[in-house]
Amino acid sequence: MATLSINNVSKTYHNGHKALTNICLDAADGEFIVIVGPSGCGKTTLLRIISGLEDLTEGEILMDGVKVNDVPPKKREISMVSQNFSLFPNMSLYKNIAFPLIISAEKSQIIKEKVTEVSRLLGLTHLQERKPSQLSGGEKQRTALGRAIIRHPKLFLFDEPLSGLDAGLRQDIRQEIAKIQRYLKTTTIYVTHDQDEAMSLADRVIVMKDGLILQSGKPMTLYSRPNSLFVANFTGKLNTLRGIFSNLDGQLVFFPVEMNNGNEALFKEPSQHLTGVNGLSVNKEVTLAFRPEDLTVRKPLRQGSHISFTALVSSIEYKGYEKIALIKPCIVKHHEINDIYSCILFMRLSQDQYIERESLITVYMYIDRLSIF
Ligand code: ATP
Repeated sequence: MATLSINNVSKTYHNGHKALTNICLDAADGEFIVIVGPSGCGKTTLLRIISGLEDLTEGEILMDGVKVNDVPPKKREISMVSQNFSLFPNMSLYKNIAFPLIISAEKSQIIKEKVTEVSRLLGLTHLQERKPSQLSGGEKQRTALGRAIIRHPKLFLFDEPLSGLDAGLRQDIRQEIAKIQRYLKTTTIYVTHDQDEAMSLADRVIVMKDGLILQSGKPMTLYSRPNSLFVANFTGKLNTLRGIFSNLDGQLVFFPVEMNNGNEALFKEPSQHLTGVNGLSVNKEVTLAFRPEDLTVRKPLRQGSHISFTALVSSIEYKGYEKIALIKPCIVKHHEINDIYSCILFMRLSQDQYIERESLITVYMYIDRLSIF
């Protein structure tokens, strides 16, 4: 267990490519941090720098307050698990897990005790004599996990450890990783581009783009209070509505830009109801961002807590535990659709809410859940 501080770390590769710019990150002892971001944003580079496999160009890395920039990888007491398992094909599962202890010349009795404990923790006890070629993908990844935890490192680094596995297995091993991390309380930095993985595993999520950290916070903070459209998109399913607010006699009137005639309002609301919403500006194109569960067909009881508009129900997807309605905001005049938004919005419905395909409905959007960019 250790604290980790990354102070103003930048990395420029020999070809001149700047992969990281001024990265600052503090991990508390035992914290589980998940870094998400698109391919090429610098996630692996950052992990390799923390592990010592890659040099940094500027900045410093501290473990337990001690600068480790010049400490070689082997001496940093870090274990890294990547997606390609990196098991030795000619060694049994037992030896693969025991390997870090074998090379540090640990006594065979101690090795046996530790491999037994780790195998039990990972449900691998019955497979100890098998070679990697005789293991399933999930068993291989558990073996790699076993090898990473056997030395009780100060820090775990995971580089997309589940991306080579199918969806069911991913969920199982994800739970396993969470359980082991809680049990060992080892400070962990986990890289993925899977939002579900990030949101379900992390104490804290960090979203990266183009070598920069865009936002860092608790999963629910990033989900409900993203600081940019990029973060909002990266932390869950998102609806967006582009348009312009105008102030007309104390009312804020919203004109979607993607409606054909552009001069009919989709909704209007007394301006004082919207004053607390971050990012609100008038006479300028903005994007309203909200989650599928921020829309409802049940009129909220509290006055001024919601915006309402009309929408056409394009279709309904049944997911078993919930339903998702695909709707298109529209403007209705004299009982006829006068204009319709070109984009689909998603609205989450509970099982007991019924709406019909092709019907016109009134949709309520909770103002306190709205983000404007
Ligand atoms: P992925 O999710 O695809 O693994 P990533 O976020 O981990 O991507 P990195 O592998 O850290 O991204 O790469 C960051 C950027 O640095 C990319 O644009 C990549 O092409 C570049 N890069 C990585 N390694 C080198 C290298 N050795 N020399 C030059 N550029 C590199």
